[in-house]
Amino acid sequence: MSNHLPDKVNAKKNEAARIRILGRPVDCLTGDAAVGRIMRAWKEKTFLHVVTANAEMIYQSTRDGELAAIIEEAGLVTADGIGVVLASRLLGRPVPERVAGYDLMLECLKQAARQKVPVFFFGARPEVLQEAVAAAVRRFPGLRVVGSRDGYFGEEEEEGIAHLISQQKPGLLLVAMGVPKQEKWIFRFRDMLPPCVAIGVGGSFDVLSGKVRRAPSWVQRAGLEWLYRIAREPSRLKRAANLPLFLLSVLLQVLRR
Ligand code: UDP
Repeated sequence: MSNHLPDKVNAKKNEAARIRILGRPVDCLTGDAAVGRIMRAWKEKTFLHVVTANAEMIYQSTRDGELAAIIEEAGLVTADGIGVVLASRLLGRPVPERVAGYDLMLECLKQAARQKVPVFFFGARPEVLQEAVAAAVRRFPGLRVVGSRDGYFGEEEEEGIAHLISQQKPGLLLVAMGVPKQEKWIFRFRDMLPPCVAIGVGGSFDVLSGKVRRAPSWVQRAGLEWLYRIAREPSRLKRAANLPLFLLSVLLQVLRR
């Protein structure tokens, strides 16, 4: 569909400002510049898939061709996590800063409220979703929430959900179902979606709702948020084991050059 062309064109046009980590593109930009790109998509009424890429996702994409293709096609890929920031430094093309998915989501909500861009919340458990929407409305006065849907459904409901979202015509679609489910959903249904900015925000609704606490800012600044998350949710340890494997693979990429 025509509304997807600008997404691809944007990706190509910005290729110069992108680096490649384990073959995946990552945009070299600040959080402000990322928000600027998002606001431009709103202004131009184009579809923009934003991927907030962390080390785990990039490493996962080396074994998941579908995820790799989705990242390749995304109009904007931000460096979400200290692993990606370190990798960019090792490769000699440092990204200016970490652009965390949660911070990007908050900034988008702030701008959406200011610019009267309608928002759809999709994902998380029903009670978390409800709390997250309520918290967003409280935090960003004037925010127009055109709909919400939890992230637990059967395959047969998927298309109906895409229809529901397209009818509500959001300009900002936040999809919080974890990696890679959220990215695959956005990609699969992009032809049915209106020209909006669609972002996979992982566990961000859990944080927004107050169910999960984010690491203190000094821990974030020290690049240790991943460690804090493991300490709070030990079930993440297995996934975090990908971080050293990711860095090792990046070192191999450096050596090969
Ligand atoms: N989730 C969902 N549907 C699913 C599986 C997960 O909506 O089928 C939600 C889950 O309730 C949680 C989020 O997706 O709110 C995943 O959070 P996590 O922190 O694991 O995301 P990631 O680390 O992948 O960014």
